[in-house]
Amino acid sequence: YKSSEASSVSSYLRIRNLYKNFGDFTALKDISLEIEEGEFVCFLGPSGCGKTTLLRAIAGLDLQSFGSIEQAGRDISALPIARRDFGIVFQSYALFPNLTIERNIAFGLENAGRSKTEITGRVAELLDLVDLADQGKKYPAQLSGGQQQRIALARAIATSPGLLLLDEPLSALDAKVRVHLRHQIKELQRKLGVTTVMVTHDQEEALSMADRIVVMNHGVIEQVGTPTEIYREPGSLFVADFIGETNQIHSTITAANGLTVGKCALRSAAHGFAQGQQVIVTIRPEDIIPHEPGSRRAESDHSALAVTVGEMEFLGSFWRSRLTGAELGDEVLYADFSINAVRRLSLAAGSALTIELPADRLIAFPAGGD
Ligand code: ATP
Repeated sequence: YKSSEASSVSSYLRIRNLYKNFGDFTALKDISLEIEEGEFVCFLGPSGCGKTTLLRAIAGLDLQSFGSIEQAGRDISALPIARRDFGIVFQSYALFPNLTIERNIAFGLENAGRSKTEITGRVAELLDLVDLADQGKKYPAQLSGGQQQRIALARAIATSPGLLLLDEPLSALDAKVRVHLRHQIKELQRKLGVTTVMVTHDQEEALSMADRIVVMNHGVIEQVGTPTEIYREPGSLFVADFIGETNQIHSTITAANGLTVGKCALRSAAHGFAQGQQVIVTIRPEDIIPHEPGSRRAESDHSALAVTVGEMEFLGSFWRSRLTGAELGDEVLYADFSINAVRRLSLAAGSALTIELPADRLIAFPAGGD
């Protein structure tokens, strides 16, 4: 008991060995996770991975089948919703249509039995906080989707809960509003310092908002890490593939830290594999570095490959280029080259090119299962 008591002091939310079954379907499998006070954590994963189920278990909207949840050192596993300490925002806003904006925000405060003067002051403060100071007398239907979601946010934090839960809060909004509200939510969260858990299937949203991302797949946690860790150091092929875009190359481990890409033996950061082992090696399109054809082709250079540029697709801030060539064997790589690089090397379909695959950006995973 000693060690668990000591560590429960440091984590605000602590989930231990959580399972959730729906009949004989296991939606959450042995989930353990600790979230620090003030952290903004995103649950990210494909549809059906269990992220909403986990959020609902934290809120008590659906009780877990096994396992425990502690909040601020208190076991809340079996507590009814009303006795838990959280505010929640849903995708669908879920405002009361027949109440004014003010009354919507005041709802939780009235339930908590706060005085009229206190409620009036707090509602004004919250309207200000979400930049809707002059909208209090309107009804939800008179506001845009983005404004309604800001009201839902104000309502969720009205009683200053210890935990803010956001269930795909931006999914129903159009792209421009979504990006704007991303910043607003993040700023508000920082200002309030409230521990926040957000469910999303939008990786850009998770990468841009979260302090840490919990990547889920088929009811288990695949990886927990900061956005840069998740993106730069994916722990599994699933994560490498799900977050951002990546090349996947069938490869063989040659020797310590060596592997094949096409017909070439390259250096990599791969470790923990046996010589001769089949792996899938990944490299992100933007990590492939273009050089003059024939450059850096010294015998000692184990990161360079001669290729031919195929189709080039203009994507605004870069060119996505299809690369093939004898040294690549059957492999096709996609590389993102900056506009400057394309100009400097006069790249076009048919150009010969040398590419550098930096050793630390070649990340290997066991082939045939991750
Ligand atoms: P989405 O982004 O589509 O909402 P999700 O990751 O949030 O996906 P969950 O809603 O948590 O996924 O669902 C996880 C799995 O549990 C799914 O396969 C879903 O069909 C199943 N599930 C969820 N709720 C129930 C329920 N009440 N009864 C039976 N199965 C359920």
